[in-house]
Amino acid sequence: MTSTKAFAAPSAKDALSAATIERREVGPTDIEIQIQFCGVCHSDLHTARNEWDVWPTVYPCVPGHEIVGQVSRVGSKVKNFKEGDRAGVGCMVDSCGTCASCKADLEQYCDTGGTVFTYNSPDPHNTAPVTYGGYSEKIVVDERFVLHISDKLELAATAPLLCAGITLYSPLKHWNAGPGKKVGIVGLGGLGHMGVKLSHALGAETVLFSRTAEKGADAKRLGADEVVISRNEREMEAHSRSFDLIISTVSASHNLDPYISLLKRDGTLVLVGAPEHPHPSPTIFQLLLARRSLAGSGIGGIRETQEMLDFCAERNITSDIELIPIQKINEAYSRMLEGDVKYRFVIDMQSLQ
Ligand code: NAP
Ligand code: ZN
Repeated sequence: MTSTKAFAAPSAKDALSAATIERREVGPTDIEIQIQFCGVCHSDLHTARNEWDVWPTVYPCVPGHEIVGQVSRVGSKVKNFKEGDRAGVGCMVDSCGTCASCKADLEQYCDTGGTVFTYNSPDPHNTAPVTYGGYSEKIVVDERFVLHISDKLELAATAPLLCAGITLYSPLKHWNAGPGKKVGIVGLGGLGHMGVKLSHALGAETVLFSRTAEKGADAKRLGADEVVISRNEREMEAHSRSFDLIISTVSASHNLDPYISLLKRDGTLVLVGAPEHPHPSPTIFQLLLARRSLAGSGIGGIRETQEMLDFCAERNITSDIELIPIQKINEAYSRMLEGDVKYRFVIDMQSLQ
């Protein structure tokens, strides 16, 4: 095992602070990555503060699942990476590999519950009680869960693609966003701003819903054809029964009815936001009188994540970021809760040294 510098939450109530963790030795199919940048996802905050009943946090907790860096060591049987390559790790680091979902390249939905998430999952290698994420100087991951990153992409701004990017790309592809389709993205945060960029790049008519009028000009620059202020009933009503797909990235519990009523017949509202408290049940008649669907979606499989990274490299799509030293992480969490980030914090991991 090797001692590794990290930043950890010691409990749900304490601020994150410097810590030392262990990383396992590099096994035959493992890759060690020197982490250069790590994005700050709202899921990091939910987990650090133990906000999800279904997934209690084990402390100390080292968040971070938007990891990019350079390969520093490879195991003897590693085929697809060499020392010095750029590499990325997203929200998961292993799965059973044999169930129907894993065989369909959907490891995030492993039927045996075998998905090992990058942090706060029981550690199958027993290096620690749970896995530790990317707020650290290095990480050791099986090569099946490591992504290639094109030299064309600016590295720091690519980190958020590993979670925010794939979490929007996957439902956009699954529900066929593209030319002739009208897509709504709810919330202009880390996930939402990637949704606007990706929906636009896929050729869909893209509408952003935000509480905040001030974000309107930005949303258009990012690729939105139109911006709707969700608090304005008249603006909302103008889009009644017109959307093929709406994706909500909202990180807090909210009323779903105003969005369901904007779906066409057979339209779908997809929830990707994962709030601490459940949303109130939608009005059932709004669903059944237009055969509308309410769905959820979780990140994306490894194959699709690589496809998304290659798609972004071809079109030069990255995240709009604010680079911070790790010492500012607690302030960054407060600002994220206030919606004061354009549009993703990324930690410069050199600041750990
Ligand atoms: P974020 O940067 O904080 O963005 C969330 C956005 O939601 C805000 O910018 C805000 O947009 C809107 N919002 C926040 N509070 C709201 C409220 N009370 N009512 C209405 N709108 C509100 O967070 P993020 O990193 O994008 O993550 C968003 C959510 O997705 C989190 O719950 C996270 O855990 C979850 N997540 C899920 C997956 C998955 O696989 N499904 C993956 C990653 C993250 P406006 O200011 O524009 O209204
Ligand atoms: Zn995330």
